[in-house]
Parts: sequence; structure tokens; C-alpha cells
Amino acid sequence: MYDVCIIGAGPGGIFSAYELMKYRPNWKIAVFETGGPLHQRKCPIDGDKIKSCVHCPVCSIMSGFGGAGAFSDGKYNITNEFGGNLYEYIGKEKAIELMDYVDEINCEYGGAETKLYDNFDTIIAKKCLQNNLHLLKAKVRHLGTDINYIVLQNLYKQLEDKVEFHFFEHVTRVDHLESGYQIETSKGVYTGARCIISTGRSGSKWMESICSHLGIETKSNRVDIGVRVELNADTFSELTDSLYESKIVYRSKTYQDRVRTFCMNPHGVVVNENTNGIVTVNGHSYTDPKRFTENTNFALLVSNHFTQPFHQSNQYGENIAKLSNMLGGGVIVQRFGDLIRGQRSTPDRIQAGFVRPTLKATPGDLSLVIPKRQLDDIIEMIYALDKVCPSTASDDTLLYGVEVKFYNMQVDVNKHLETCHKGLYVIGDCSGVTHSLSHASASGVYVAHDILEQES
Ligand SMILES: Cc1cc2nc3c(=O)[nH]c(=O)nc-3n(C[C@H](O)[C@H](O)[C@H](O)COP(=O)(O)OP(=O)(O)OC[C@H]3O[C@@H](n4cnc5c(N)ncnc54)[C@H](O)[C@@H]3O)c2cc1C
Repeated sequence: MYDVCIIGAGPGGIFSAYELMKYRPNWKIAVFETGGPLHQRKCPIDGDKIKSCVHCPVCSIMSGFGGAGAFSDGKYNITNEFGGNLYEYIGKEKAIELMDYVDEINCEYGGAETKLYDNFDTIIAKKCLQNNLHLLKAKVRHLGTDINYIVLQNLYKQLEDKVEFHFFEHVTRVDHLESGYQIETSKGVYTGARCIISTGRSGSKWMESICSHLGIETKSNRVDIGVRVELNADTFSELTDSLYESKIVYRSKTYQDRVRTFCMNPHGVVVNENTNGIVTVNGHSYTDPKRFTENTNFALLVSNHFTQPFHQSNQYGENIAKLSNMLGGGVIVQRFGDLIRGQRSTPDRIQAGFVRPTLKATPGDLSLVIPKRQLDDIIEMIYALDKVCPSTASDDTLLYGVEVKFYNMQVDVNKHLETCHKGLYVIGDCSGVTHSLSHASASGVYVAHDILEQES
């Protein structure tokens, strides 16, 4: 019988284990993880012999110690403005306090030399406000892919002797017993007095089945749909030179919808993203100036919240992406001027433009793909951004479609992040409460403290 069983070794699970180990070194804590330890996480794509996904039984990018963010850029945004709704459960001050605490630990375990950006500029914020745009406030610790890996390595060294890690052990079933929880895995059956589930986005379908099995209510109601905008880097230099990454929100006049910028890449490239065979668009940038392009790209996303009886928000997003794939054989690109004039872009029109596309996409007509409501929202925001960064709404600005951000369903948890079953907690991205490294980590610390308080 373990004192606590943790399912998933992403940031949520790691920080729960870390806090429990720190304050209760004599407790028996087990972590069950579908993937492997950090050093065994190797994606077979080498760009040479293997160029694309071969669908390994366990994905090394998404699964294993460190979870989905192990090979990420390691951007820890310390804010309540985006990255999740943890503050709705635990309060704004507490949420920031815990994100700061996570930052301290990351620094202690190897991140101390990295930069903490204060991502706000009063003059830019004022200019945005004058044009109905809202610049969001956030501190950002940018660990970078290399240091993020080192921090995880050091955390693992600290934990490995004190916590029982069960790698390559996929949890198949969780049952509520009188004395706690029974956890069935691909290798055995275990029991724990309490159970923390932190299975992230990769475990979202699994989470759905567990909730249905244990009678925990869920709702699924959000998907973000939009385009990736690409323009000359000089157009956006006022923002990108002053801020690490600007997150700007706009409330559309026609529909009162929330539209936001996402993932801004100065001098970056637009790339394809393949999710289960559906091709959508994304963006990257490199720190090495030799790899800089002349363009900046960012997403403009419209948040769609659905109400009863519809509950398949992710399928709605998928179907719109499928439509663009059907018409364009993949991602479609259109000049803003062509969209406004109601004509498709053609290879010649793209070629004649002053913005050179960094992604080879099919010139076409996004108005045949994106519903009118979302397209109107995006066009409105482009005109609003044009007032802050003139020439954003130029004829040659390129729009790639579609970009989709999927969300996990919302699991019914209380202010302790505990389900209707005492001692069963759901945290991190699989709960629908968080969708970022800092929020997921903070939720892990919060639940560990809650368990400790109940014991004292
Ligand atoms: C490429 C990429 C880059 C990202 N970059 C950033 C960034 O810079 N900043 C940011 O804030 N966020 C970023 N994110 C998002 C961030 O990684 C997640 O929000 C965060 O990892 C969520 O943490 P988590 O612990 O909830 O879940 P995860 O990190 O997803 O971890 C869940 C773990 O549970 C395991 N698991 C799932 N099901 C089971 C099961 N049944 N049994 C046992 N184990 C199971 C999985 O294998 C996984 O290891 C990025 C995501 C990706 C994919």
C-alpha cells in the first residue's frame, strides 16, 4: 500500500512527487509512467533515414519523465492571464505564489543562469488599449530546450532514490476501494491511500474513460480556430524588439468573440503540423541569427465555447482542418488582399507579393474553409493590429490555414483539485484546468500541500 500513487511523470506529477518527498521523506510514493526515463526518450526521426513519424507504441516526444514539455522551449509563463484557469480554483494570489515557487525550484536545479523576462511595456500597452487591443502581462522564464533538459535531469537525480518510479508502466484502470485506490497497470496491480492523476494531453482519451468508469462528471466545450499570419519582420519590430513575446487579446465588435495572438516567432518560419493525419499549421523561430528569415509569424486564434447539447468541440476543430486539407491537399495560403477582395490566391499572385512565404502551402481561398464568424473576427483583429503596427493589413500579408488549438475536457474537481471521490485528485493538463508548464507544475505543488495539510 503506497501513501500516494501518482499517474504520469510530466510537470504536474513531478512537482507533486517532489513536494511530498521533501516534506514526508518516510512516505511510500509511486509514480507510474507510460514512457521511459529521460535518457531513454529518443524519437527515431533523424531527418535522414527516418524523416517522419513511424508511430512508435510509446511516443518519446510526449511520454516519459518530463512529460510533453521535456524537449520544449521550456517557457515558464508566470501569469494568470493565460496558460490555464488554475486561479479560478485556488485564487489568483496563490496561483502566482506557486508559479514563483516552481520558478525557484527550476533555478535551484540548473535554471539560475537563464533569463526571467518582464514581458510588458507600458507605452505599447497604451497604444494597444487605444485600439481596443489588450496586451497581457506575464513574467516569462525562458529555460530553453537545453537547460530545460538539465533541470529535469537534476530533479530526477533528487527523486530517484526516494520515489518509486514505474517506467513503461501504462495505467489501464483505477478503482475506488474503501481504503484508497487500486491501480492496474500493464505490469501489475497496486494500491494507494491517495491517487493523483496527471496524465496530460496525451492521456486525455484515457482520462475520459476513467471519469466515465468512476462517475466523475466532465464537459468538453472549447476549441480555438484561426490562421497563422506571416508578414515582413519590420512590420512587427516595434513589438518583437521590445517584448519577449507579446500576447494580445481583442474582443470582436460584431460577435464579441475573443481573438488572440499566439506563439509569435520573430524572423521565424511557418511549418506544417501533422496530428493523426490532419495537417494544420504552426510556427517556429531559431535563436541562431544565421537561421533568421526576413519574416515574423504568429497565430490569430478565435476561442469557440460551445453549449448544450454540443460537446464535441475538438471534432469541430478537426473537421474544419480536414476541409482545408480536402481543398488544398494540406495547408492553404492566401494573401490578405485576395481574401478581402473575395478572390482566391494563385501561385502567380503569391509570387507577385512582397512577403515571401516560408512554408510551401497551396494558394487558395480561406473563406471556403473557415466559417464566416471566425473569419470576420480574424479580419477585424488584423485591422486593429494595423493601427499598432502599420501595414499588418497590407495586401501582401499572408494567412495560412488552419491553425487549431485543441483543449482537454474539463474534469469536475473542487477547490482542492479533488474529484467527488475523497483522495482522488486530477491535476495538470488532463484536468482541463491547466495548459502550460507553469500552471501544471503549480497544480502539482498545490495538491501535494493539500494532502500534507489534511494529514497534519
Ligand atoms: C512540443 C511542445 C512544446 C511545448 N512548449 C511549452 C512551453 O514552452 N511552455 C509551456 O508553458 N507549455 C509548453 N507546452 C505544453 C506543456 O508541455 C504542457 O502544458 C505540460 O507538459 C503539461 O504537464 P502535465 O504534467 O499536465 O502533462 P504532460 O506533460 O503531458 O505529462 C503527462 C504524462 O503522463 C503520462 N501518461 C499519460 N497517460 C498515462 C497512463 N494511462 N499511465 C501512465 N502514464 C500516463 C504521459 O506519458 C506523460 O509523460 C509544450 C507542449 C509540447 C507538446
